[in-house]
Amino acid sequence: MVQSIEDKRVETDICTIGAGPVGLFAVFEAGLLKMRCHLIDALPQIGGQLSEIYPKKPIYDIPGYPDILAQDLVNNLEQQIAPFHPTATLGERVEELDRLEDDSFRLQTNEGTEVFCKVVVIAGGLGCFEPRKPAVENLEQYEGKGIAYIIKNPEKFRGKKLVLAGGGDSALDWTLYLSELAEEVTLVHRGSTFRGAPDSAEKVMSLADQKKINLQLNANVTAIQGNGMLNACVITDKAKNSVTVDTDYFIPLFGLSPKLGPIADWNLNLDRNAIVVNTEDYSTNVPGIYAIGDINTYPGKLKLILCGFHEAALMSHSAYRIVSGGKKPSFKYTTVNGAPTM
Ligand SMILES: Cc1cc2nc3c(=O)[nH]c(=O)nc-3n(C[C@H](O)[C@H](O)[C@H](O)COP(=O)(O)OP(=O)(O)OC[C@H]3O[C@@H](n4cnc5c(N)ncnc54)[C@H](O)[C@@H]3O)c2cc1C
Repeated sequence: MVQSIEDKRVETDICTIGAGPVGLFAVFEAGLLKMRCHLIDALPQIGGQLSEIYPKKPIYDIPGYPDILAQDLVNNLEQQIAPFHPTATLGERVEELDRLEDDSFRLQTNEGTEVFCKVVVIAGGLGCFEPRKPAVENLEQYEGKGIAYIIKNPEKFRGKKLVLAGGGDSALDWTLYLSELAEEVTLVHRGSTFRGAPDSAEKVMSLADQKKINLQLNANVTAIQGNGMLNACVITDKAKNSVTVDTDYFIPLFGLSPKLGPIADWNLNLDRNAIVVNTEDYSTNVPGIYAIGDINTYPGKLKLILCGFHEAALMSHSAYRIVSGGKKPSFKYTTVNGAPTM
């Protein structure tokens, strides 16, 4: 399965920015040609839009599946690429992309992980999912010092005091999960009813009734306090009554919105937030960098998963020439080569 590794320095043939369905399938196509892949995704899990936005929705236009739930498709892709043992850095955003003297590349994430590779495949979809931040003074000052917008490793919160905010599935699901681990959980929601799944909302209400969590409805976190590290949140209700709650972490879970982000600074030809590619092999204007899936554009482009899969296949055959130092890939059906391995 695709496990996030902690290594801060990774060497590989192909680095795929984005572990959505198209980035995952690129690992398969590259694997058939014996190229190693490393995936990087800003989200803590693989699956891109499918896992983040619509995991439980059925998709009807994947060839061979009359219908399949989005998360099941991601799980199947994960299983399909397992024979190629891809490595991954999850929960980190690629910030820098440099070309080295020998024409290979160095990528660096916001957490300092460096990946050295011969080919870069941008499968960044709509861009990085950036957290929607609450309007609280000094918020940025405490980022990484008690404020977390995504939960990468829940164990970090074991035995801690937490204030979560939000009314969607993410806030509800994490409240339920973290209530088992943390010393104290406060959930703050600006409304009186939740947008998330009714079943999860019921469980959260029941935990509040049993005093296992502290639930603050019709309220917002209006200020944060600390001394280098965050140590308290001020919660204010609609009647303007405020309470100060001691906390180790403030976790606002107001959803994520995609932004092209650093990709816009890499000297790639862009057309309205999408990367212009050559449809022969989905290469960009920078040799060695390819763009596949929702992130690219060309005449007639359709932002569909199946189009991204096709692009991944053509990209891999072109990338092989770079990775192998100019050799032509030999084209063989999987039925002829047998079960894929690496
Ligand atoms: C509600 C909904 C329903 C849909 N239904 C269908 C359907 O029925 N059929 C269909 O074919 N398509 C459907 N789509 C579209 C489909 O989801 C997309 O075409 C598909 O997700 C594109 O896959 P991708 O791998 O290119 O990008 P994504 O799934 O967007 O994945 C891209 C990944 O790249 C990561 N990323 C971006 N920039 C960086 C960076 N700098 N560093 C690290 N990571 C980065 C992002 O975090 C993200 O996880 C639907 C979309 C939505 C929103």
